[in-house]
Amino acid sequence: MSTTESWFPSSWRSKSIAQDVEYPDPKHLSKVLAKIGTLPPLVTPSEIERLRYQLGIVQRSEAFLLHAGDCAESFDACTHENISAKIGLILSFSLILIWGARLPVVRIGRIASQYAKPRSSKTEKIGDEEVLSFRGDNVNGLDPNDRTPDPERLLSAYFHSTTTLNHVRSLLTSGFASLHHPSDWSLNHVRSHSLRKEFEHIVDGLSDALDFSRTIGVDSGPSFELGGGRGTVGEVDFYTSHEGLMLEYEQALTRAFPFPSAAQLKAPADPKAAHIQRPKTFYNTSAHFLWIGDRTQQLTGAHIEYFRGIRNPIGVKVGPSMGRDELVRLLDIVNPLKEAGRVTLITRYGAGKSGHPVIWICDPMHGNTLTSASGLKTRNFGTIIRELTLCLKIHAACNSCLGGVSLSKGFSVTECLGGSMELSEEQLGLRYQSFCDLRLNFEQSLDVAFLISNYFKK
Ligand code: PEP
Repeated sequence: MSTTESWFPSSWRSKSIAQDVEYPDPKHLSKVLAKIGTLPPLVTPSEIERLRYQLGIVQRSEAFLLHAGDCAESFDACTHENISAKIGLILSFSLILIWGARLPVVRIGRIASQYAKPRSSKTEKIGDEEVLSFRGDNVNGLDPNDRTPDPERLLSAYFHSTTTLNHVRSLLTSGFASLHHPSDWSLNHVRSHSLRKEFEHIVDGLSDALDFSRTIGVDSGPSFELGGGRGTVGEVDFYTSHEGLMLEYEQALTRAFPFPSAAQLKAPADPKAAHIQRPKTFYNTSAHFLWIGDRTQQLTGAHIEYFRGIRNPIGVKVGPSMGRDELVRLLDIVNPLKEAGRVTLITRYGAGKSGHPVIWICDPMHGNTLTSASGLKTRNFGTIIRELTLCLKIHAACNSCLGGVSLSKGFSVTECLGGSMELSEEQLGLRYQSFCDLRLNFEQSLDVAFLISNYFKK
C-alpha cells in the first residue's frame, strides 16, 4: 500500500476486510449508516488534538499512559452505578501512580464505544448447535437465539456511547473526579487491610498537599494536568477509546473539520501540524483514541487503510504473530511523517525497536488466558504481573521506557485468579460476569497500580 495513494473515509472498502460482519439485509444497514452519518460527533477535534499533544509527552517519558476499562461494554451495563465505578477505579489507579511515581497520567478509558469484539472463529458450538459467534452488543446478542447481525444495534451503540459519554462528562465536571474528593471513588470492594491503608495514606497526603496549595494561593490558574490552561488544580482529563473494528460505523462518524485554531486547542500546537493546515482534516468523532486489534492489522487490508487517514492518535496491538519488519512497514503506513503522539504500540510481549517515535505500552491481559479446572476461562494475576514486570525489564535493558499499561478492569468481578485478595478457583464463580473476556477487579487493579508506582519511584 502506498501512503501517497489518495485516502477518503470509504477508501477501505476497496480492500479485503478481516473480521467482516455479514448483514442479511444490506439495504437496512445502509439506511442505519445514513442515519448515523447525520448524528452529531461525540468528541471534538480540539479534544483529539489535546490527547495527541499529551501522548507526545508520554512518548518523552514525562507522563504515563493508563488505558483501561472493559474488554467489551454491554448495553445493559450503561447505568450510573457501573459508569461511576469504572471512572472511580481508573481515577484511583491513576492517583496511585501520580502520587507514588510523581508522574502525570494520561487516562484513556475503554469506555463509551467499546462494544465490538473480534472473534477467532465465525461460529461456536452451544449445546448441540453451531451458532454464529457473539460479536459484541453492537452486532448481535449474547443469547444464542439472537446471533443474526442487526444493523439497528449500531444505532443503539451510538446512543449508548452518547449516554455513557454524557455521564462521564458530567461526573468529571461535577466534582466526582476532583482530586479534592478521592474518597468518593469508593474502596468498598477492597478487602485487603494493607491495600486500603496504603490508598488512604495517599488520599490523606493529597488532601494536605491541596490544602497547602490553597493556602499559598495556587489553587486556581493553570492546571498541573498535562497541557495546562484547563482550569483548576485537581481537575482531571479523561479520554475515550475503542477497537476500530466496525469500519462502516467508523466511516459514518468520520468527519472533516478544519484544524482547530490555537484558541480551541488549549494545548501548544504540534510543531509538525503545519502539514495539516489543509482545508480538510478527517477525525473519527466516535472516540478520542482508536486501536487496531491483533486480528485486523493486515498491511494491505481495510483496517490499516482506514486508520492511515484519520487524525486521531491510534493504538496498534503487537502480538507474537507480528514480525519486526511488518511492524515497521505498518508504522510507515500509519505514521509516514513520524509524528509524536500519533502511535501507541500495545504489546503483549517485549519487542525490538524500529526508529519510529512510538509510545510503548503493555497489555498483560490478552495473551494470558487459561481455563480453570471448573471450565471457566480465567487469567492468573501472577502471570499478568510476570508479563508486566518482564516488559518493564526489557524496556530498561533496551534503554527504552514503558510508557503505559492497557488493562481490562471490572469493579467487583471475580474473573482473574490471585492478587492480594488471593482469589481462588472456588471463588471464581462468585461474581463472574464476563460474557467475553476476563477483567481484573478493583483490588487487583490497585495491586497493579502500586507495582507500577513502586517501580517508577526507584
Ligand atoms: C482487546 O484488547 O479487546 C483485544 C481483543 O485484544 P487483541 O486484539 O490484542 O486480542
